[in-house]
Amino acid sequence: MKSLGSIRRDFAPWNDPNAKPYIQFDKVTKKFGDFTAVNNLSLTIFEREFFALLGASGCGKSTLLRMLAGFEEPTAGRILLDGQDLRGIPPYRRPVNMMFQSYALFPHMTVENNIAFGLKQDGMPKPEIAARVGEMLKLVKLEQFAKRKPHQLSGGQRQRVALARSVAKRPKVLLLDEPLGALDKKLREETQFELMDLQQSLGLTFVVVTHDQEEAMTMADRIAIIDKGEVMQVATPAEVYEAPGSRFVAGFVGNVNMFEGKIARGEAGAASIDAGNGITIRTENAGDAATGAAVAFAIRPEKIKISSKKPAGAVNAIEGEVYDIAYLGDMTVYHVRLDDGHVVRASTMNAARITEDPLSWNDRAWVSFRPDAGVVLTR
Ligand code: ATP
Repeated sequence: MKSLGSIRRDFAPWNDPNAKPYIQFDKVTKKFGDFTAVNNLSLTIFEREFFALLGASGCGKSTLLRMLAGFEEPTAGRILLDGQDLRGIPPYRRPVNMMFQSYALFPHMTVENNIAFGLKQDGMPKPEIAARVGEMLKLVKLEQFAKRKPHQLSGGQRQRVALARSVAKRPKVLLLDEPLGALDKKLREETQFELMDLQQSLGLTFVVVTHDQEEAMTMADRIAIIDKGEVMQVATPAEVYEAPGSRFVAGFVGNVNMFEGKIARGEAGAASIDAGNGITIRTENAGDAATGAAVAFAIRPEKIKISSKKPAGAVNAIEGEVYDIAYLGDMTVYHVRLDDGHVVRASTMNAARITEDPLSWNDRAWVSFRPDAGVVLTR
């Protein structure tokens, strides 16, 4: 069985035409004065899904989350949760909880009191609170820190207290606004996996807002890429990366080489692209792009091979000169300037310690790739 990316996915309700969406944004618009922060946006999220809203600063992703939580109302359109229109329902009556960027822990309260706070407010009986707090402390591995105050904890531990507090009331949906923003890189990576485990073990629906594409790719079942208040694409991480729907998405997620050109000849998904200056690209992924259409050919750096000699039998091979090399340990990134001035980025995994075909700055080199390695973008 072939699959995009390297992972087989068993959880994919979005592919099931009978699956009922859990959260629905239905033609939602949000205006602040004359400014349109969210523009006629529709998207659906399924129960138990880990869903990420990804976009640059100011694209409207926090506004979407705040409308779902009930801190803002849409100017137009509807938001449904389990089929119910949420309009007019105050935040505390929605089965939704939000974890904020700043965590907002109570500084004078111990860890266990921070976690118990919402439960006490709801009037839960004391023994039940104690049991629930114990369960939460165990879940986020903070049992031995129960009596500490927030300032006696590390950033990562504080983040886990905030998380425990926001899931203690068992909301059906947890909304997370840049949940790992305050953590350093290594801790972020660890915490990403912890969050995924937590979401799985509690069976909750998570909607996370992030501007960090790696974070979205790591954690989410599906990602919505948002730009200027509109959805550019909703897809799994592998689809977003391997089958971007537009130039914008291809350029936004990961590194990509882009060749602008015209479809010179196309038959059943295969095509030649005339990319100018004598460069012709042969691809099997032209989809239904018509002959003569102006398209972009997008190809990821790791799908480009670099070699000192023209590889025998290569369908696509272009000559140029090595003008930059970055050795990153696990891989090496080459920038090759083609004879038309176009710069191509190629990356090679350093699977062995010794390289058979070492290249240096200013060497002549060939970049080559298979006809199924890139995608043709019409938008
Ligand atoms: P960031 O990653 O920086 O938080 P974001 O994508 O979450 O960005 P939003 O907070 O949703 O962005 O804001 C979207 C746009 O709406 C921004 O241009 C912002 O300035 C504007 N905006 C948000 N809230 C208000 C408000 N209460 N009044 C006026 N403009 C607002």
